[in-house]
This record gives sequence, structure tokens and C-alpha cells, in this order.
Amino acid sequence: MTAKILSGKDFAAQIKESARLEVEEIKNKFNITPGLAVIIVGENPASQVYVRNKHKSCEELGIKSEVVTMPENTTKEELLNKIDELNAAKDIHGILVQLPLPDAIKNHSEEILNRINPLKDVDGFHPMNVGKLVTGSPALVPCTPAGCLEMLDLAGIEIEGKRAVIIGRSNIVGKPMLHLLMSRNATVTVCHSRTKNLSEVTREADILVAAIGKPKFVTADMIKPGAVVVDVGINRIAPKKLVGDVDFDAAVEVASAITPVPGGVGLLTVAMLMKNVVKAVKLQYQI
Ligand code: NAD
Repeated sequence: MTAKILSGKDFAAQIKESARLEVEEIKNKFNITPGLAVIIVGENPASQVYVRNKHKSCEELGIKSEVVTMPENTTKEELLNKIDELNAAKDIHGILVQLPLPDAIKNHSEEILNRINPLKDVDGFHPMNVGKLVTGSPALVPCTPAGCLEMLDLAGIEIEGKRAVIIGRSNIVGKPMLHLLMSRNATVTVCHSRTKNLSEVTREADILVAAIGKPKFVTADMIKPGAVVVDVGINRIAPKKLVGDVDFDAAVEVASAITPVPGGVGLLTVAMLMKNVVKAVKLQYQI
């Protein structure tokens, strides 16, 4: 069997087009231009690339984009004040603080992120949004797992009643993915670094999500023949070589569908951020 390749490029384009139409509708019907503010502190080169991509996507879709650049030596108080200012700004509906923060304020990341008005928290990290996701209320959900779910839907992959296994229990990917899949009536198991007999568990999965951060960790023998494999991992193994958490070349012979790295889940994240900005507007104006 050779798996169908789930191309992030195609799905991201579909998600963005749907966001673009919603932006247009919000502008026409309510005279509101959705606005996103991204705060970047310091000079992390990878963060600068991510922020540029977010800005570019906003421009493509007609979303107002404000990039707030703050110096490496920004204090916690200065950053909190900036967030307060953006929380109060009428033309900004989504706020995102690009992570990681510089070492000097890194330890305060939680306090800083929690300062964002939950209705503007387009990363979905605020405890209020986490709680809503867990209890099944409308919430802003972290973009990467939300993008994975959207992709499964767009690909016509059934979730209800399926056995899903997630490897990784981070707040950004693993845990929200658990709640998203469970809310769609999958039977979900979350594995992590202390899981015993990992391959036995992963081989039960109809849908296997890998979010570990270890290159080619998931080998073909860990995958049930015909499973759908979603590879969230992004691992740089050489200056210009990215690989996922799944051994793609082997897994493609076992799975029925698989996301590649690069060109898979990574592209969905920014697309989903655009959808979250639209969702934030709708939640704020209850439209
Ligand atoms: P993390 O480091 O916070 O979590 C990794 C998880 O993997 C942990 O829960 C840990 O228990 C589990 N793990 C580690 N070793 C294991 C082992 N031997 N067996 C089983 N489980 C093990 O990472 P994260 O933030 O969830 O990110 C995971 C990967 O996804 C990374 O490669 C990251 O770069 C990537 N990622 C991609 C996107 C995107 O596509 N936009 C977004 C976020 C993260």
C-alpha cells in the first residue's frame, strides 16, 4: 500500500480561502476589518520568519496586521503594558505573543500570555480558552491541532468511532488534540515519554498523531496498516533539512494517508490562525 499524501499546501489554501470569504462578509455586513497584532520581542531569526509569514497571510486575506517589534531587553512590565494597550484597541481583534520570549523574561511567559484578553487570544493558550475547549464551549483553539482537525475533515477522513492515538502531551499540541478528537467522538489515547509498550498502543490507532519533537521516531512497525498518520513534528537535522517525527519513507508504505514534513501540518498553522482571527471577531461582536 502507498499512502495518499495529505498536502498541507492544498488544505492551507482551502482554509485561507474560507477565511478570506468570511473576512469579506464581516467587512460588507458589519463594516468591521478584522485586525491581528503580533508582538515579537528580540531577534530570534526563526521567530522573525514566522511573524513575516503571519503578516503576509493577513495581507493576502484582507486582515489588518500590526507587527509590534520590541527590543531584546524589554521588561515584563513593558510587555504587559503593550498587551494592555492592545487589549483596549478597538481595531485589534487578535493578539499573539511570538514565543519563545528572550531568556530574561522567559520564566514569566505564562503570566504574560495570561494577560491577553481571552476573547483576543488567537493562539488559544489562555486558561479560559483551555477550559472552554475541555468543556465543549465555543473557544479559540490552538492553531496547530485545530488545523490538523480541519485537514482531516477536508480530506473526508471519518473521526467518529475511530481509535485515535496521540504521541505527545504538550499544552500546544497533544492536549488540545485530545479534546478536539474526543469532541468528535473518537476514542483517544494520549502517549508520552513514560508510556510503556508504546508501539503496542500506537498500532491500535486508526488515526495516529505524532507530536514529539524527535526525528523519524515513529517507525513503520508502530503503524497499523491503513492508518491515517498526522506528523506534527518539525525537526531540523541539517541546516537545510527538516524532517518530521515519523519515518516518512517507511510509513508511506503502511499508512492509508500521511502528512509530509515539510509541506504538511506546518502550513496549516498559519492558515488556522487566520480562521482564529475571524472567530475572535465573531466571538467579540457575537455575530
Ligand atoms: P513538547 O516538547 O512540548 O512535547 C513533546 C511531547 O513528546 C511530550 O509530551 C513528551 O512526553 C513526548 N515524548 C518525548 N519523548 C517521547 C518518547 N520517547 N515517547 C513518547 N513520547 C515522548 O513538543 P510540542 O510543542 O508538542 O511539539 C512537538 C513537535 O511538533 C516538535 O517537533 C515541534 O517543533 C512541532 N510543532 C509543530 C508545529 C507546527 O506544525 N506549526 C506547532 C507546534 C509544534
